[in-house]
Amino acid sequence: MSPIDPRTHDELPPTAGLPARLRDFLPPWRGGFAAQAAAWLDTDWALLTCSGTAALWIALDALKTLAPERHSVVIPAYTCPLVAEAVLRAGLRPRLCDTAPGHFDLDTQALAGLCDADTLAVLPTHMGGRVVDVGAAQTIAARVGAFVIEDAAQAFGARAPTSTGALASVGLRGDVGFFSYSVGKGLTLYEGGLLIARDARVRAALELSERRLVHGGAGWNLRRAIELLGYALLYRPRTLGLVYGAPLRRALDRDDVIAAVGDRPRHDIPLHRVGRLRQSVGRRELARYRAHLAVGHAHAAARAAALAALPGVRVMRDMPGAIGVWPYLLLELPDVATRDAALRLLWRRGLGVTRLFAHALPDYPQLRGRIESAALPHARAFAARTLTLGNSAWLDDMRFEIVRTTLQGVLAQTGCAQRDCHGAASAGHGTPAASASPSQASAESGGGG
Ligand SMILES: *Cc1c(COP(=O)(O)O)cnc(C)c1O
Repeated sequence: MSPIDPRTHDELPPTAGLPARLRDFLPPWRGGFAAQAAAWLDTDWALLTCSGTAALWIALDALKTLAPERHSVVIPAYTCPLVAEAVLRAGLRPRLCDTAPGHFDLDTQALAGLCDADTLAVLPTHMGGRVVDVGAAQTIAARVGAFVIEDAAQAFGARAPTSTGALASVGLRGDVGFFSYSVGKGLTLYEGGLLIARDARVRAALELSERRLVHGGAGWNLRRAIELLGYALLYRPRTLGLVYGAPLRRALDRDDVIAAVGDRPRHDIPLHRVGRLRQSVGRRELARYRAHLAVGHAHAAARAAALAALPGVRVMRDMPGAIGVWPYLLLELPDVATRDAALRLLWRRGLGVTRLFAHALPDYPQLRGRIESAALPHARAFAARTLTLGNSAWLDDMRFEIVRTTLQGVLAQTGCAQRDCHGAASAGHGTPAASASPSQASAESGGGG
């Protein structure tokens, strides 16, 4: 048997997906998920797509029709490889922007250096439900006449402060925003995505591109419905070992980090309509989603505070005034040796500890030769120093203590207990604990408000 948590054979998920229920699949099967999701987000227009990647592809295609003389898209060098695939699929050139030090957000200086008259769009990204300030990217994009697409694939339900100080869904500040309903990202249709936009001209362009690019999909819908049913049956600690834990450990046995993380770039991006059955499941999930997020929020607040109290651990947080969602906690450790030591002890144990993305984008063999490379020191350092802890309700206090004390032990061994490691890990820019006092910068919980 695999060395899972010796007390049980439970396997916790790496992210807090919303569990689906069998009764979500009962008739009547009503469509209209997009309108329902728009209302839930407090906006009046949304477009359902078959994945987040498809949403981005459609968005880029639409913006291309509005600015056909522009050919490049600036994306973070540390993000989901499917983002690069969507840019390529749309016939555009991805430009890789280094991240801010100790962060996944676009570095403003690097961004300014990459933006020019050829830039169609820039993609600030709300990674892991952490809300970033889109303002800086917007200012830089506006200078060259580029659009802003908010990648909110992992942030459905996150809200950011508007100019009036009120809160609005992420994705509404930029020209386009998109969410993912892929398995593990929260509410799920097994695969799905949603586009939102404020401006009528942009909305019309998105609708036109969707109609031009997307057709049919009966076969895909049957397949995805079965996969979603499998998710409803198996997304629980008793059975996740079978469908998630065992393949993870097999991937680790052969040192295949990309397979372990599950972020292999895919050439083929299916485009099809989402059928009524899955839309109906989505509508029923939506009715439970607010409560699901509230539980996650409360858990994350307590756990973020406890982990950030460990010297050398930084927990990524939201920009001031924002209320993010918490599929997992994203932790930065002082260096790659400490991070790798922690993963050696925790990755196989069924506790929901894993890595976000395997690499910075140029380091995926599947993307080599297809995208540009560059030094990208911050993005590579962030990829090398971070790990994630799933924020599912199944992570009880006892299991959380295993994770916390293991991290504490690793940090003590690499010397972090003896000195203040915060300085080393928390460089400059960023959103961590902006609402807390400077001395508490890494230790306060942003979750409790
Ligand atoms: C998952 C993800 C995507 C792509 O969404 P899919 O629904 O999986 O196609 C895009 N961007 C980010 C940041 C993601 O995490």
